[in-house]
Amino acid sequence: MFELINKNGVFLLKSTVLKSNHAFSTRIGGISELEHTKGLNLALGRGDDSATVLHNLEIFSSALGINPTDVISVPQIHSNIVKAVTQEDAGRGYYYSNGFSCDGYITVEKDLPIGVKTADCVPILLEGRNENDEVVAVSAIHAGWRGTADRIAEEAIKKLCDLEVKVQNIYVAIGPCIDECCYEVGIDFAEQIEIKLGQNYKNKYIKSKENGSIYADLKGMNFEILTSIGVPFQNIDVCSYCTCCNENLFYSHRRQKGMRGTHLNVIVK
Ligand SMILES: [Zn+2]
Repeated sequence: MFELINKNGVFLLKSTVLKSNHAFSTRIGGISELEHTKGLNLALGRGDDSATVLHNLEIFSSALGINPTDVISVPQIHSNIVKAVTQEDAGRGYYYSNGFSCDGYITVEKDLPIGVKTADCVPILLEGRNENDEVVAVSAIHAGWRGTADRIAEEAIKKLCDLEVKVQNIYVAIGPCIDECCYEVGIDFAEQIEIKLGQNYKNKYIKSKENGSIYADLKGMNFEILTSIGVPFQNIDVCSYCTCCNENLFYSHRRQKGMRGTHLNVIVK
């Protein structure tokens, strides 16, 4: 179950399936004042000056109880690359040079916050536990449609299993993203999904309306990718919010036609 929490005026979404400290940001609680970023914009390069973005990161981090200068979140490239990170990478992306690009992270280290940025794409936070129900590793991934089609969720699961986590001991929160109510796509999108994920995914998660327009369900696709490789469905929490429908809570690339702020979605072991 997802809960919307008000922490000193900062609104965060948290999932009850995860034991690890984590949060999906909303736009409520920040100091950005531009029309399109108003609120808690957490990305550089969207129009806010860097001091404003770093101040927002401090506000968000304080609400979450983490150190802002430790947060790792580098530019994303719509790939399926999930990078293992360590304390040496702390602060990478916000406070010092990116060094690499990727769309996901995994770490076994404590107190090392990893975060993915979204504004309609699917943020997914994961944790792998041992037989004593202790968290062994955490992961955060950014699944846009390309990452979804290239099975980035499966990459994260494989990397958790490489750490000798059993797949049935993996817990997953699929965060707020653009939902099928608003996510209109083209024929080429449907074809790519069929090529990369198979006809079953196309039939189940891409629906045509009577007027011929086509809508896609990225949450459903990622849910099925996870369960098809063995993550128990009861271990997966899916946020019901659509970022495009809920203007008060979320930035949306689609609704705002590209002129928008960005959310950060963080997990820390
Ligand atoms: Zn919607």
